[in-house]
Amino acid sequence: MGLPKRRCPNCGDTEQHFRRLHDREQVFALSQATVRVHRADLHKFRRCTREGCVRVQSYFNWRLGFDLPEEFRAPARPPV
Ligand SMILES: [Zn+2]
Repeated sequence: MGLPKRRCPNCGDTEQHFRRLHDREQVFALSQATVRVHRADLHKFRRCTREGCVRVQSYFNWRLGFDLPEEFRAPARPPV
């Protein structure tokens, strides 16, 4: 079972896997000003899982998105 693949403009417009936002990412999503995100729409926003990418965008519209700040730029997956 994989994550949905969506076009990521930060990854050279390649198809990447996107996952749901974690708590801290949701808090930032509500506070940033690039894209107006309503609390009820948080579940529609996903983050690119490619390592080093901080792109968050709507599951339904890859153009509707923003970048997380640098402190979120950590490895996407913890070591197994
Ligand atoms: Zn990406």
